[in-house]
Amino acid sequence: MENLTFPAPVVLGTDVIGVPVGGDVELELSFESVSDGIWVSGSVKAQAEGECVRCLDKVRLDVDAPVQGMFMFPDSQREADEDESEDVFEFDGETIELEEVVRDAVATSLPYTPLCSPDCPGLCDQCGARLADDPDHEHEVIDPRWSALQNLRDNEG
Ligand SMILES: [Zn+2]
Ligand SMILES: [Zn+2]
Repeated sequence: MENLTFPAPVVLGTDVIGVPVGGDVELELSFESVSDGIWVSGSVKAQAEGECVRCLDKVRLDVDAPVQGMFMFPDSQREADEDESEDVFEFDGETIELEEVVRDAVATSLPYTPLCSPDCPGLCDQCGARLADDPDHEHEVIDPRWSALQNLRDNEG
């Protein structure tokens, strides 16, 4: 196992949540020589930041994701289309480009819809206030569906 920590060179994650550029990324990896290339496996640890999809509050998430990738020699005999797996990367024989495999590992471990808490009530659809701060607040507005009914009734009369 090799341990290395480096600042994230790019955002690791998705549009809604990810490890920001410069954030600490801790890798614990082992490199195993196999006939076609190098098999890399281990884990990545980092802290992702994003926004709660309901209330837009900041969300911080500890990432601890498994990393796995096969770095194949370009002249490897293996059929490329036979193994169109996302875990296969090209290896020039000298430098293993970890960025992509780490980015994939982090991105797949992150939630599609980050939440500040599992039961976040979100924002009021009338005024945008955070319902967590003000759960009881109400508006004297008729639900649009009711007002449509209201109009129907008015027209009938
Ligand atoms: Zn929230
Ligand atoms: Zn409101």
